[in-house]
Amino acid sequence: MDEFFMKLAIEEAKKAEQLGEVPIGAVIVKNNEVIASAHNLRETTKNAVTHAELLAIEKACEAVGSWRLEETTLYATLEPCPMCSGAILLSRIDRVVYGAVDPKAGCAGTLMNLLDDSRFNHRCDVVSGVLAGECGMLLTTFFRNLRQRKKEQKQKMKE
Ligand SMILES: [Zn+2]
Repeated sequence: MDEFFMKLAIEEAKKAEQLGEVPIGAVIVKNNEVIASAHNLRETTKNAVTHAELLAIEKACEAVGSWRLEETTLYATLEPCPMCSGAILLSRIDRVVYGAVDPKAGCAGTLMNLLDDSRFNHRCDVVSGVLAGECGMLLTTFFRNLRQRKKEQKQKMKE
């Protein structure tokens, strides 16, 4: 089941990619039903907080008519950053499933684990590495293409 919903998150990530955004997607599921899906929109909105997970949380709150997202699972293609991990705690999401680890910002087990710390009044079950290869490959390919484009641009300027 986790792989099924992660595939939907990957579809969201691909939507971001088509917009020239870093390909990261998220979906929130309640009772085996998707109640929200979103992708990273940081460049489009020119807004630092418009991460996939945060946007999905906003949509899910709207969908359930409450700030509490109990009994939900959030699927994200990349390990949540500190901001999104904070929002996950505050919205009382029960379970978080993510694909690729983020060695530079991951706060769901890599740099620290904000989602499972007994000092907070809420803890999540965390599952990592679901379709990690596919999730990570999207990012690797995106950044490789970006570097290639930049290189080509530089080359053109010289000509
Ligand atoms: Zn984030």
